[in-house]
Order: sequence, then C-alpha cells, then structure tokens
Amino acid sequence: MEADIIRNKLAIKERVRTGVSGFLKQRGGVQDYIEFISCEIDPLFSRQRNAVDVVKIKRETKNTKTFTLKPYRAWGGFKPGQYIGVEVEVNGVRLRRNYSISSSSLFFKKTGCVNITVKQIDAGRVSGYLNNQVNTRDVLHISEAMGSFTVSDYISPLLFVGAGSGITPIMSIIEGIKENSPLQEFTLIYHVLSKDEVVFSDRLYMLAASLPNFTFLPHYTDEEGFVTEKQLISDCADIVDRNIFLCGPPGFMDSVLKCTDALSCILFKSGAADREDEVVVGAHLNIKKKTNTITNATKRQETK
Ligand SMILES: Cc1cc2nc3c(=O)[nH]c(=O)nc-3n(C[C@H](O)[C@H](O)[C@H](O)COP(=O)(O)OP(=O)(O)OC[C@H]3O[C@@H](n4cnc5c(N)ncnc54)[C@H](O)[C@@H]3O)c2cc1C
Repeated sequence: MEADIIRNKLAIKERVRTGVSGFLKQRGGVQDYIEFISCEIDPLFSRQRNAVDVVKIKRETKNTKTFTLKPYRAWGGFKPGQYIGVEVEVNGVRLRRNYSISSSSLFFKKTGCVNITVKQIDAGRVSGYLNNQVNTRDVLHISEAMGSFTVSDYISPLLFVGAGSGITPIMSIIEGIKENSPLQEFTLIYHVLSKDEVVFSDRLYMLAASLPNFTFLPHYTDEEGFVTEKQLISDCADIVDRNIFLCGPPGFMDSVLKCTDALSCILFKSGAADREDEVVVGAHLNIKKKTNTITNATKRQETK
C-alpha cells in the first residue's frame, strides 16, 4: 500500500517534470516560458500572441462586420491574401480561428492597423462572439500573418472568383493592385446569396468605376442559382488565359473546379489551399490549355 503511494507520487513528479521540460523544449526555452507566464498575468506581455486594440468596427452586411485592429507592438506585417489567427475567450474557454486580412499593406503602413471581416455563422462561437460581444477598445490577440494565397506578380490578366466571406483575402489583394499596379487587367466574379449580402459593395463598385481594367461581376444565388460553366465563360471569355484565384466555401470551390474541368482545362494548384476547417478555402490555379480540346470547347461555346 505504502509502496503504491510512493510509486504514484514519483509518477506524478515525473509527469510534472517531463511536462515542464517538454514545454520548454517546444517553445524554445526559458525566455518563452517566462513570456507564457507573463502572458497569463498580463496578455500584453505575450510575444507569441500579439495583443491588438479594436479601434473601429464597421457593419458590412446584416451578419458581417469589419474589425480594425491595431497591434500594441511591432508586428511582422503581411502580404495581401494572407490570414491571421485570432484568439478570443468565450465563456472562459480560449478559442482561436483564422481570419483573412481584408485591408491593404499601405493601410498598415500608414495606420499600423489591419482589418479582418467576419461573417457570423449559425451557432458559430468565435464569429458570433466577435459580431455580438466585441466593442471598440477591447483587446484581442492575433498571430503573425500566414498563408500562400498571394499574388506574386501582376503580369498576366487575373481572375478572382469568390463567394461569401471568401471575398476577404481577395479584397486585400485588389486594394494592393489599386495601390501598386492600377492598370492591371483583372476581373472579380463574386457570388453571394442575395444583393444585400455583397460584402464591401460600395468599395467594390467604387474601385470598378475608378480602375480602367477592373471588371466587377456580382452574382446572386437566389436569382441565378449556382455557378455554371456557361456563366463563367460569359463573364470571362478568356478564362483559360487567366491566372485564377479562387476563394469561398468548399461546395462553391468544388462547383467552380468542376466548371473549369468542363472547359477541358488542366488545373494546377500552385498555391497550397489555405484551409483547416469547412468554412473558407483559397486556391491559386494556373489553367493550362489542353492542346486541341480547348479549341473544341471554345468552338462549342462560340456556336451556342
Ligand atoms: C485560412 C482561413 C481564412 C478564413 N478567413 C475568414 C474570413 O476572412 N472571414 C470569415 O468570416 N471567416 C473566415 N474563415 C472561417 C473562420 O476561421 C471560422 O471557421 C468561422 O468564423 C467559424 O468559426 P466559429 O467559431 O464562429 O464557428 P464554430 O463554433 O467553430 O462552429 C462551426 C460550425 O460547427 C457547428 N457547431 C459548433 N458546435 C457544434 C456542436 N457542438 N454540434 C454540432 N455542430 C456544431 C456550428 O453550427 C457551425 O456551423 C477562415 C478560415 C480559414 C481556414
């Protein structure tokens, strides 16, 4: 009996020791351990988790808001199209979700702020918390920026195909085009349920009016149904020559991929799809013409 108690005590001691040393190894030593502790005492001390002030909240649609976040300390910045982890505490539980940055690099340079735009989903814990409980001057925590859904050059004509909150990284990229390459030829096909669900509506129409080579084509599922091959070609006749950036819910992505398949194209996902759940994904596609078959597909289309 006594031997059992001693064995248990030793086992507990060992678990605590390996737990702490494992933690130190994992996070890079004493410094990170101190940061972890100080972060528990005061969130603003954390280096891994960047404390940000919510400086502005703007309603975009009935269930979507944009949050302007200002990091307290030096934060690594981002490339348009990237996303950040956002950590919040909901009912005593820390939850972390990814949100794409929807603002431009220039906005960050000028103000030190980034925007995220969050759609509240049914029974969604973090999206619900952000949309209903967070106010200006609240403190949240964000990660450094991540993701490969970015545009590395603006040489070829671009096509963005987005749906719902998949517009957020695309918006950041478009703002970047406006700032760096305003003559770039590009088209945005944006699918939403209905007219009043177009996120960034005013801004998109304004950009379309001011950028000479930008075509903005919204589509409303309640009027037109889901995306079709015919619709894609009528929106963008030279789709096979475009550098395509696709971002939206998985069902939508699958539909678009099936359409482009029907165009007899080979798709190359050159940017890894950024995703970890079932809500938003992004992929950069390079379409390469299949010799001969694409000519037939185009001819078929021309005779319709
Ligand atoms: C790279 C990336 C970028 C993203 N960018 C954006 C963005 O810019 N804007 C944006 O709005 N979103 C974005 N997302 C999605 C975002 O990360 C969240 O997934 C989304 O906000 C939902 O999180 P939530 O906590 O509100 O939902 P959760 O609480 O995680 O719930 C998700 C779903 O599960 C269901 N559910 C939850 N609990 C249960 C349960 N116990 N039983 C049954 N069902 C349950 C909910 O009803 C809901 O439908 C992005 C995702 C990724 C991966």
